[in-house]
Amino acid sequence: MFRKVHYLLTLLCAGITASILLVMSFIYLYVSETSLTQSQFLSFQHAMDNLINNFRQQRVITHEWLIQTEKGNACSIRITDNGIPLLFSQRNSGDPLRAAEEEALDYFHASFSFAPAPGDAELSSGEEDCILFTFPFTSSSGENYYACFARISKEDQSTELLILHPIKELDEKIKIQRIHFALIDLAAVFLLTLFSFFFTKKLLSPIERSRKEQIQFVAAASHELRTPLAVILSCVSAIKKASPEEDEEGFLATISSEGQRMSHLISDMLLLSQADAHTFPVHLKPTECDTLLLNSYEAFEPMAGEKGISLTISLPDHVLPPCLCDGERFNQIMAILLHNAISYTPKGGSICLSLSLNTAKKPELLVLSVADSGIGIPDGEKEKIFRRFYRLDQSRSEKNHFGLGLSIAFEIVHSLDGNIRVEDTPGGGSTFIVCLPFHPVSGEKVL
Ligand code: ADP
Repeated sequence: MFRKVHYLLTLLCAGITASILLVMSFIYLYVSETSLTQSQFLSFQHAMDNLINNFRQQRVITHEWLIQTEKGNACSIRITDNGIPLLFSQRNSGDPLRAAEEEALDYFHASFSFAPAPGDAELSSGEEDCILFTFPFTSSSGENYYACFARISKEDQSTELLILHPIKELDEKIKIQRIHFALIDLAAVFLLTLFSFFFTKKLLSPIERSRKEQIQFVAAASHELRTPLAVILSCVSAIKKASPEEDEEGFLATISSEGQRMSHLISDMLLLSQADAHTFPVHLKPTECDTLLLNSYEAFEPMAGEKGISLTISLPDHVLPPCLCDGERFNQIMAILLHNAISYTPKGGSICLSLSLNTAKKPELLVLSVADSGIGIPDGEKEKIFRRFYRLDQSRSEKNHFGLGLSIAFEIVHSLDGNIRVEDTPGGGSTFIVCLPFHPVSGEKVL
């Protein structure tokens, strides 16, 4: 599903950015082509003004003048005097330029009247009348030209000039510019698609990760719930089949303990879901943390003693002032850490519970630690043990260890704005260290 969404997002992202880029570059290309064409046409008009002026100054039009002018202006000139063609250059009638001249003349007569168009010059002087037209023209063979038609009238004499300037170079320039733009746009679209692919992948990765975690959580939760449920069901069927003389007490005790196990697991999962939904209730009120720690010590001392583990406590020399803390959550953290320490420390081991104040930080930190001399945790696993349903070694875990304790402790500590970490105990074992902000104030605050 994520792959499909990823491709769709890539397509959308690349599509939008590429369309914007293409529209912008088309606008730029259009503006640049228009200004190029306009400046070329303008310089053609200037050249024609000069040419006609020069023509009018010639007393006799020679073949040399015509050839030189044609060469200098890269054009062909056709002159008629009272309708009679004059001084045709060396071109024969099969020349495509000759055919284009005829077409341009027909086009001119069909399209224009003798009133000069805007931009065309009227170069009359004295008794001589001169009218000049410039216009773009495309021949039937598809060649583009700039054309100029001029009529110089003097008394009963009328001389007409048709000048054709092929604009192959301009067309070539525009063509090359278009190819360059197409190549640049193609490369840009490719790069944008590549960028969109990686960008959307990065964007989706946290969602994908959280979905994977959710799936793993549901799978692990179902797995953990299935075992006690299977035991309960088998006990129920055993009771049904049992004869009246058989003792049902054993089955009922198993059902009860498995039921408690399920209820314990479900309340753990509910607590975590509250943490995920940020509805984890935290009640901060003046609390004597050293007293709380002492209570935890007293509660777990018999359990440790039963297992042959020595449990000691180390408190600050001076009694700590009451601070803002949630006593219930504090006890929960201590219960998880002490329960684990007792579970993962073999007989004859030791556990040290300690509380201190770190005054070097602002705000001051309440530092709680549970150091055991137990089996220890390899470095590579130290971060992973705070994940949900993560157990270092499934086979050595007790039945009542679901791998949720440390993830709950992690959520509680973070909801109290603190942090939790694990280190190796010198000489072997693990030390869990919890740092909580120490606010020695009175009053009550509910988060
Ligand atoms: P569990 O309920 O399985 O103890 P936790 O989340 O509390 O789940 O702990 C996760 C895993 O971390 C445990 O399965 C265990 O492998 C390891 N662990 C926790 N505390 C200790 C400890 N004090 N010493 C060694 N390993 C520990």
